[in-house]
Amino acid sequence: MSQSFEGLSGKVITPCSNEYEQARQEWNRAIQKFPIVIVYCYSVEDVRNAVCWAVCNGIKIRIRSGGHHYQGYSTGNDVLVIDVSQMKQLKLDEADNSVFLQSGVENREIYDYLGAREYPFPGGTCPTVGVSGYTLGGGWGYSSRYLGLGCDSLIALEMIDYQGNLLKAENNHNPDLFWACRGAGGGNFGIVTSMTFKLPAKIAQVTLIELEYLDAPSSVMARFLNIWQEWLTDLDQRMTMNASLYNSADDGKGIYGKGLFYGSAAEAAEILQPFELNGVALSLKEMSFLEAMQQIQDAYPDSEKFQSTGRFVNRKYSMKELNIIAELIDERAKGSVYAAVSVYALGGKVNEVGRQCTAFYYRDAAYIMGIQSVWEEDRYASINRFWLYKKFQYLKEVTWGSYINFPYNCLANYEEEYYGENMCRLRQIARQYDPLNIFSFPQAIR
Ligand SMILES: Cc1cc2nc3c(=O)[nH]c(=O)nc-3n(C[C@H](O)[C@H](O)[C@H](O)COP(=O)(O)OP(=O)(O)OC[C@H]3O[C@@H](n4cnc5c(N)ncnc54)[C@H](O)[C@@H]3O)c2cc1C
Repeated sequence: MSQSFEGLSGKVITPCSNEYEQARQEWNRAIQKFPIVIVYCYSVEDVRNAVCWAVCNGIKIRIRSGGHHYQGYSTGNDVLVIDVSQMKQLKLDEADNSVFLQSGVENREIYDYLGAREYPFPGGTCPTVGVSGYTLGGGWGYSSRYLGLGCDSLIALEMIDYQGNLLKAENNHNPDLFWACRGAGGGNFGIVTSMTFKLPAKIAQVTLIELEYLDAPSSVMARFLNIWQEWLTDLDQRMTMNASLYNSADDGKGIYGKGLFYGSAAEAAEILQPFELNGVALSLKEMSFLEAMQQIQDAYPDSEKFQSTGRFVNRKYSMKELNIIAELIDERAKGSVYAAVSVYALGGKVNEVGRQCTAFYYRDAAYIMGIQSVWEEDRYASINRFWLYKKFQYLKEVTWGSYINFPYNCLANYEEEYYGENMCRLRQIARQYDPLNIFSFPQAIR
């Protein structure tokens, strides 16, 4: 019997629609799923209708904003995808020092909107990541050490729950839900339709940092990581960087770092002095926050096929350990065009919030470290995934927990890995706000 889509509103895409093939894609093209129906919502009413339709018809729901989930948990086979990416309203309230956005707004859109008015924003690095998906998982970006995680600037959100009710969550209203939505990832409690963030102070100029070592052997990579871990110990919180030790089919082996400094190029140069190993190319350019974000974002491709992870690091490593880490990418998997170990600086403002103050538990980690492999031809997918799985075993051994925004489907105790000691409270909140488990996906809070 064919499915009736009566009751759905917004733009309804079914397998018979011309747009279905495009609409079912995630940013990670290695994910190929076939939903029963995809609904592009334009209003809160469309979201409510979609939830009610799914519940009445016994169809599982997946929630999608920017579609960047590493494992594709914003889609699935035989599900209804409730897609909020067309809900794009943005409203600045300078009197209230806040900005309101609907949950379909992407990083690039919030940067353009606020940047044109000289406001920075603690968003992510990729232009098309959804601000709501990013913030729900904590949200690391190049302003994190200076402004905190994305979720640290969140002051309120609105959500459609499993009954189609619109709930508001903020410090004084559904505070437990608000707590959970700051770091426990998307998809667990309901469908966020809007978020309100406090505004940071305006800034005229920042310094965009790029750092590169070409043809770096693993010994230089290990030395780099050693400098990195020492450098982070008492780093000026105006500085946030990440770096990748890469092995690329096009460019060979090297190290590439990027960052943002809320200060002058001259000051940044001084702070970055420890990285002056032989052969480093350092670029420091003063520009507006918006220009810096545009340059960072322009480096991203439209899509990729990849497998990737992100772990928290809470201790310093010996040179022996650093050599092993650097050697993880000595050889790429067959068919891989790019493999990398990447590090993302934490600390600063991220560390000023307690582990239990929001659902984002790993506040006192020094940095995030992940490994990834990118391939182009589908026939190499399983080889690459297995390569990553093997390398991950070592990283897991020497790290602490996993970052929910860099999720990995092979984690045995995923709730503990993502949420640490916040897991029990999160389970209670999930039971309270979604008692019928309407919002579920492979790594949902149970
Ligand atoms: C190329 C790339 C670059 C990235 N860079 C960064 C980075 O710099 N920093 C960082 O922290 N992360 C980064 N990420 C990870 C990214 O922040 C997370 O994958 C985030 O969850 C993506 O949000 P999305 O809305 O784009 O994705 P989606 O796939 O749409 O959603 C991700 C998850 O959130 C849920 N969700 C989405 N919208 C809602 C909503 N409105 N209500 C409830 N649940 C919702 C989904 O169900 C899913 O579980 C990157 C990812 C990619 C692919």
